[in-house]
Amino acid sequence: MEHSEPAGAPASVSTVDDTPLARELADLSARRRALSDVRVDLPERTRIMTVSNQKGGVGKTTSAVNIAAALASLGARVLVVDLDPQGNASTALGVEHGADTPSVYDVLIDDFPLSDIVQASPESPLLLCAPSTIHLAGAEIELVSQVAREHRLRTALETYLESSADPVHFVIVDCPPSLGLLTINAFAAADEVFIPIQCEYYALEGLSQLMGSIGMIQRHLNPPLHVSTILLTMYDGRTRLSQQVADEVRSHFAEQVLNTVIPRSVRVSEAPSFGQTVIAYDGQSAGAVAYREAAVEITRRHAESSADAQQKGRS
Ligand code: ATP
Ligand code: MG
Repeated sequence: MEHSEPAGAPASVSTVDDTPLARELADLSARRRALSDVRVDLPERTRIMTVSNQKGGVGKTTSAVNIAAALASLGARVLVVDLDPQGNASTALGVEHGADTPSVYDVLIDDFPLSDIVQASPESPLLLCAPSTIHLAGAEIELVSQVAREHRLRTALETYLESSADPVHFVIVDCPPSLGLLTINAFAAADEVFIPIQCEYYALEGLSQLMGSIGMIQRHLNPPLHVSTILLTMYDGRTRLSQQVADEVRSHFAEQVLNTVIPRSVRVSEAPSFGQTVIAYDGQSAGAVAYREAAVEITRRHAESSADAQQKGRS
C-alpha cells in the first residue's frame, strides 16, 4: 500500500526549513563540511603578529588563543606569547602559570631564553605558549631601567626562532589593553598588528589613538610594522548595531578586515573556564567554525599578497 503524506506536511516542512534558525543551521553544516577538507600553505618565514587594541574586553585574548589553536589545527606550529599580566591566554591554553612558573617576566627582565619557559598546550604539540605570571605586572616599571628596554622581546624571539629545531610558522603576542612598555615590546617584535574590534557601541573609539601609536612605532622602532588584519568579534546578527559597526569598520579598513566575523557565542566565552580554546572545547560550534575560517583567511590572504609582491618584483 502506498503511503500518502498528510496534505499539510510539505507546506509545514518548508515553513520549518525557512525559519532563520533552520537556515543558519544549514549554513553552519555547509561551512563545517567546507572546513573539513581545507588545505592551506604555511608561511615560509615566521609571521609575528601582535594582537592589540587599547580598548579592554574587545576579544584580544579570545582571538589570540583561538586563532592560534585554529592555525595549529591546520598544521601550523604556533607560539602564543602571553604578554598580559592577567595571564588569560595562558589559562585558555591550559598551561601552568602559577607564581613559581618560569615566564615571560624572566625573559624580559632576567634574560632567560624563551626556550626555557615555552610550554606545549595539552591541546596540541603544535600549540606552544610562553606563559605570563603575576610577576609581569611589575615588569612595566622594571623595564624602564633596562638596557634596550623596547627590544627585549624582539631579541629573545630572534634567538628562539633561529635555534628552534622545528619551524615556527606563527608567533601571536597577546597584549594588555594599554600602551606601556610591554605592548611597545610586542610592537617592536612584530611584523603585523592584528586588531580585534568588538561589534558594540564606541567600537571605533580609541582606534585612531592606536593607529597613531603604531605610526610612532613605525617611525622610531620598527618600520615594517603594519596593520595586516582586523577581525570583527562578538557579532550579533540579530541587532542592527552589529551590522552598522561592521559596515563602518569595513568602510574605513576595506583591505584589512577579514570577511569572517566572530559571532557572540556562549561556547567561546565558557571554553577558558575549562582551560581550553573553543577549537578543542567544541570545534564544531559556530564560534569555533568562525575562528577556523578566520585562520584559513589569514593564511590565504598572506599567501596571495606574497604572490602579488613576487609578481610585481618580476615585472
Ligand atoms: P582585556 O582588554 O581585558 O585583555 P580582551 O580584549 O583580551 O580583554 P577577552 O578577554 O578576549 O578580551 O574577552 C572579553 C570577554 O568577552 C571575555 O569574558 C570573553 O569570554 C568574552 N568574549 C570574547 N569573545 C566572545 C564571543 N565571540 N562570544 C561571547 N563572548 C566572548
Ligand atoms: Mg586580554
